[in-house]
Amino acid sequence: TLRDQAMLLQIAQLASVATDNFQLLRQTQEAVQMRSEFLAMVSHDLKNPLVSVKGMAQLLRRQLERGDCLDVQRLIEGLDKIDSVATRMSAQINELLDTARLQMGEPLELDVRPFDLVSLARQLVEQHARTTSKHNVELRTDLGELVGEWDQLRIERVLSNLLSNAIKYSPEGGDVVVTVRTEEADGRSWAVVDVTDQGLGIPARELPRIFDRFYRASNVEGRIGGTGVGLASVRMIVEQHGGRISVTSQEGQGSTFSVWLPLPGAA
Ligand code: ADP
Repeated sequence: TLRDQAMLLQIAQLASVATDNFQLLRQTQEAVQMRSEFLAMVSHDLKNPLVSVKGMAQLLRRQLERGDCLDVQRLIEGLDKIDSVATRMSAQINELLDTARLQMGEPLELDVRPFDLVSLARQLVEQHARTTSKHNVELRTDLGELVGEWDQLRIERVLSNLLSNAIKYSPEGGDVVVTVRTEEADGRSWAVVDVTDQGLGIPARELPRIFDRFYRASNVEGRIGGTGVGLASVRMIVEQHGGRISVTSQEGQGSTFSVWLPLPGAA
């Protein structure tokens, strides 16, 4: 009858609302779980260097008290070590503050000054090459220099993130190539940095979600550690510079991330 039909319809609607709620609950649970993993990793990352700074300070103090640290050279080396660990921690904390700011939808205060993107890329390539023996990390560019006006520390973080991902998600090794070039598009000039690897790649249907906060692709989740926040921050930083980031990838073949940054001049 008509009443039965109406009732059935109501039941179907209720069931669909229940399913939606259930999915929402599961998503929320997943997000909470990921956040606590993220916090655990962050505190671990900050605690270790702090323990070593404390240890070094106490050691220097004991040596001074005993009077067996008359060797000024050794004293300076110890203090330099403390200084460099503290500098690294301060950069990590700034990165966390940025992440929190971006998460709340607040813009970053960019510290924009001219710098040479080619030498920054070269420096980061050399730095990351030293961290791996499995990969051949290299810079390819025809440009002697490429000076633009961006926030150097933030762009350094962007490129560092892309480089360490390229290495991390190529567990078998392979080439990691960074190119720096210029492009003309949308009536203006762009500085473009590509980071290409021959690693695991990203499943095609997951590509659109790769820049979402906490998102990790199914081919790495549970196998390679990570938090899924790096690329979300990378995209925000690039976009706040008026730039954009894109990715092409083939699962099992490798990926290329391209960062486009506006060059000074007529827009
Ligand atoms: P994390 O590396 O901590 O998981 P990211 O935000 O940097 O977080 O990256 C998000 C996800 O994007 C990664 O979990 C991984 O699935 C995928 N990804 C990023 N870079 C690469 C890459 N070079 N090759 C393959 N997958 C990548």
